[in-house]
Amino acid sequence: MKDKRKESSSSQNPGSLCAPLPHLTCFGCCPPIRPAHYDPLDHVRILRREFRENRKQIQQEGLHFRPIVGYSCWALGFLGDDGKRAGCLLHPFQNEGTDFRHLIDYGGKCARETCQAARFFLTLPEEGKIFWLELAAGFQSFFYSSLRANPLFHILLWGKGVLEPLRFNALARDESATELLHRFPFLFRKDWNPRAVRFLFRVVIQEMISPHKPERPLPPHDEHFHPKGLEEDQLLQSLCASILKKCEEQGMFYDSSDDLFSKTMGKGHSRCFSSGQTGADPSSGPGENQTLTHLLDAKEDLRDFLRLTLKWQKTSPNFAHWVKEKVALWAKEAVRARREKKEAS
Ligand code: SF4
Ligand code: SF4
Repeated sequence: MKDKRKESSSSQNPGSLCAPLPHLTCFGCCPPIRPAHYDPLDHVRILRREFRENRKQIQQEGLHFRPIVGYSCWALGFLGDDGKRAGCLLHPFQNEGTDFRHLIDYGGKCARETCQAARFFLTLPEEGKIFWLELAAGFQSFFYSSLRANPLFHILLWGKGVLEPLRFNALARDESATELLHRFPFLFRKDWNPRAVRFLFRVVIQEMISPHKPERPLPPHDEHFHPKGLEEDQLLQSLCASILKKCEEQGMFYDSSDDLFSKTMGKGHSRCFSSGQTGADPSSGPGENQTLTHLLDAKEDLRDFLRLTLKWQKTSPNFAHWVKEKVALWAKEAVRARREKKEAS
């Protein structure tokens, strides 16, 4: 929440997603306790009145402890008399560095927690933040705070590993974020769960658009990948879908017909290596040191792929490494096959 705003608010240096630009402030996670699917855009008229009243009340009565009542927080209000920006009136930014959020009963939670999009935003370089913020350039606080309306809440979940190569690709073509999004609409398609598959997309994107120099900007006109319109997007999605199919064929997905123990500790993983296994030590199956997947010492996107896509609750570094190598190999093969097909045609 607002604690993560850090020293933002210069148009050249957007610190956090919570208040990245002088005119942009978010209150999307306020208050912390509210109904699922709550969206401020559904209550704009009521909230506008509340925000005006909350600001006025604090100005008249000063600050003192009061609990949150119902689903509205008395500290959420307009940050200026013009009623344009809304946010937390107890946040240090509004109080010369002093944090007054302990004056509500969920203050600790407010100061501690942040949404995933804001967390991923912080991992981007400043240039990356500025690039993607273009998508919310004209928003006001209500629209910007809406999980439904603000595309950044979904797009940022693709993470740095996907967003940065695509940004380099856009820069090489003199494209804006909007134009890039037009070329790669998968970024906001809701039928992909970015957190679950961003590892897969990262690997395929790296292989597909800059196979020899993965850290470099993508060439504007790759000799093999310069399809027009949405073809790039469709190619990327079909390559990823084909690799997921291979995962299924290899028995990598958690099978709910097995019992939990065999799935997470032994039999299930053994089955994962039933064919074509390389890289890891498949013989170490049930006896190998397993850990909860989200605690595994591996990149977060790989952990999320194992946990959210393959549904592994526990695994070991060896198994995780095997999946990583296998997906990388399949991506390489799929891209090479595509390239050869194109050359032959
Ligand atoms: S919803 Fe996310 S971006 Fe918005 S204020 Fe909360 S943590 Fe910040
Ligand atoms: S105290 Fe501030 S951050 Fe916490 S719910 Fe209220 S307005 Fe939001």
